[in-house]
Amino acid sequence: MTVPIVLVQGDITRQRADALVNAANSSLLGGGGVDGAIHRAGGPEILDACRRLRASHYGKGLPTGHAVATGAGRLDARHVIHTVGPVWSATEDRSELLASCHRESLRVAAELGARTVAFPAISTGVYRWPVADAARIAIGTVREEADPALFDEVRFVLFDRAAHDVFSAELAARGAG
Ligand code: ADP
Repeated sequence: MTVPIVLVQGDITRQRADALVNAANSSLLGGGGVDGAIHRAGGPEILDACRRLRASHYGKGLPTGHAVATGAGRLDARHVIHTVGPVWSATEDRSELLASCHRESLRVAAELGARTVAFPAISTGVYRWPVADAARIAIGTVREEADPALFDEVRFVLFDRAAHDVFSAELAARGAG
């Protein structure tokens, strides 16, 4: 058995889940894209928690491929899991780091007892990762790593129709399970 993977087109800040994953940057202090939207919608509580992380465990920032949780402020979730995707490189294979974002986010979610987790398409925005390859890595890693005893659903929230179609094709190509 594998964990059900659900695809949704829309804004991740409008989702209800135990944990929402943020495509953060290593500063943890906010940015554009998903990161900006999460801080805007979630309010200052999330940024305050991120500042505390910078002042304690993550003085140099959160390394690429790692994940850390905060509260979710005003979002309809219990936790935000911040993870830093790799910047796409045409000359260096950074796939393992993108896989690690998904694996580590799931590990943190499991530690928190979060049974439904919503991911954005990490690295496919400002970090320019080609969406089809990101879909292959994201869905492949979740299929391998998400223990069905620990999770009820893993959701990918794709901002636009094109990304939703690409993730959908990847899921269909893998079959039901
Ligand atoms: P990264 O820096 O990891 O590339 P971005 O936030 O720039 O992260 O983009 C990641 C993906 O999230 C892109 O495909 C972008 O279109 C999408 N995105 C941007 N805003 C939102 C949002 N509010 N909800 C869901 N996805 C979003």
